[in-house]
Amino acid sequence: MTEWTEDSVRAECRAWLEANWNPDYGLVEWRNKLVDSGWGAPHWPSRWYGRDVPVGLVPVVEEEFKRIGAIGVAKVGIRTLAAATILAHGTDMHKEKFLRRILTGEDTWCQLFSEPGSGSDVAGAVTRAEMRGNKWVVNGQKVWTTSAHKADWGLLLARTDWDQVKHKGLSYFIINMKQPGITVQPLKQMNGHASFNQVFLTDAEVEPEFLVADVGDGWSVTTTTLMHERRGADGLRSWAIASNLPGRIYDEEREEIRTTMEPYKWYPQRAGRVDLIMPRARETGGINDPVLRQEIAKLLIMSKAAEWTARRARAAQEQGRPQGPEGSLGKLASSHVARAAARIHTALMGANAMLTGEDSPMNGLLAEILVSVPATSIAGGTDEIQRNIIAERVLKMPKEPREDIDRPFRDVRRN
Ligand SMILES: Cc1cc2nc3c(=O)[nH]c(=O)nc-3n(C[C@H](O)[C@H](O)[C@H](O)COP(=O)(O)OP(=O)(O)OC[C@H]3O[C@@H](n4cnc5c(N)ncnc54)[C@H](O)[C@@H]3O)c2cc1C
Repeated sequence: MTEWTEDSVRAECRAWLEANWNPDYGLVEWRNKLVDSGWGAPHWPSRWYGRDVPVGLVPVVEEEFKRIGAIGVAKVGIRTLAAATILAHGTDMHKEKFLRRILTGEDTWCQLFSEPGSGSDVAGAVTRAEMRGNKWVVNGQKVWTTSAHKADWGLLLARTDWDQVKHKGLSYFIINMKQPGITVQPLKQMNGHASFNQVFLTDAEVEPEFLVADVGDGWSVTTTTLMHERRGADGLRSWAIASNLPGRIYDEEREEIRTTMEPYKWYPQRAGRVDLIMPRARETGGINDPVLRQEIAKLLIMSKAAEWTARRARAAQEQGRPQGPEGSLGKLASSHVARAAARIHTALMGANAMLTGEDSPMNGLLAEILVSVPATSIAGGTDEIQRNIIAERVLKMPKEPREDIDRPFRDVRRN
């Protein structure tokens, strides 16, 4: 295996890009080339489309892509969580069938975890999967399922054994979303977008080989997905921001963002748009206000510290340590950053920040930030849940009293 250094990663990646990058390629055609080269997901194993580059050196590769203007593999959406989960727990068949099309962006994914009665308490899922004949048959309801209306495949958590204790009766499946047993209904959010859905599963089918890990291991696989979601730092996630460069491949990427990636177009706003704070502070003159300057400095420090926490988590992963509760620290930090950024945008703009429409500040973008930021404190586990995890697993404080984990799930009070 190559012993990578910053210099060797930079030199090899640069040489490959200079020999191969061409904006006249089609998007999928280029991404297939990238997948074959291993530079699209350089920190993945070389057996599975990567180059075994340490996670900490991925930013070097990203710099090289940026320098030459090259488009990377598809990094937006639940597909990144699907990839991380399949790499950790999937069979070779799962890896062969799904990973390439995740990286090329040909398949779109959704995460079928939350249910009307189990969001924070996701292990309380009551959607059931039963083996009938030679197939799993699934019945139940999921909710808040981002991108289900676009998805080809879903990551499904379902109960397979009601006589086991809560966390042991769950199994994890990859389910084909394009089948008659699945009905998807969009839900409209307060920011005007409709990126998530309720999903009804009625005798929906799953092939036995699409079970991930063993029957009853669903909770540990779910934890892997959630840890990656909370960390958001697996080097395979980015925002759906279209470039304005000319060329066939950029046109196709813009089209991808307009169509399949449409549910994620407000995600940069949900993170608070810290990148806009300094330009806005200069434009509005807010930078000269000593009180506001203090607040801006605090935000930028907090945002940098959050970035470093994410890098620490990356370093831990690099040393082969499993995904740990660092993800919860990072997730909580991103909630704080998003809220502080929204407060400062409002302080800079005053009441006008609430306006929407073409003649409003930044075409309504500021208002979109204000009504999108609350999502950061909810999606992927609420702030309260992250605090519970930090308290119990990092600080080793006494656990919350539970009456639902020492008896068969069938006998547990629900809802
Ligand atoms: C933008 C967005 C995208 C999402 N995408 C998906 C998706 O793709 N797939 C998916 O499966 N889900 C998705 N979700 C759902 C998300 O995971 C849940 O909303 C979240 O886990 C909270 O669950 P809930 O909404 O049922 O709230 P509840 O669990 O009903 O919580 C209500 C309130 O009670 C608090 N609370 C609950 N339990 C405790 C406790 N033990 N201690 C202290 N406080 C507690 C919570 O913090 C919260 O304030 C998404 C949510 C958002 C906002």
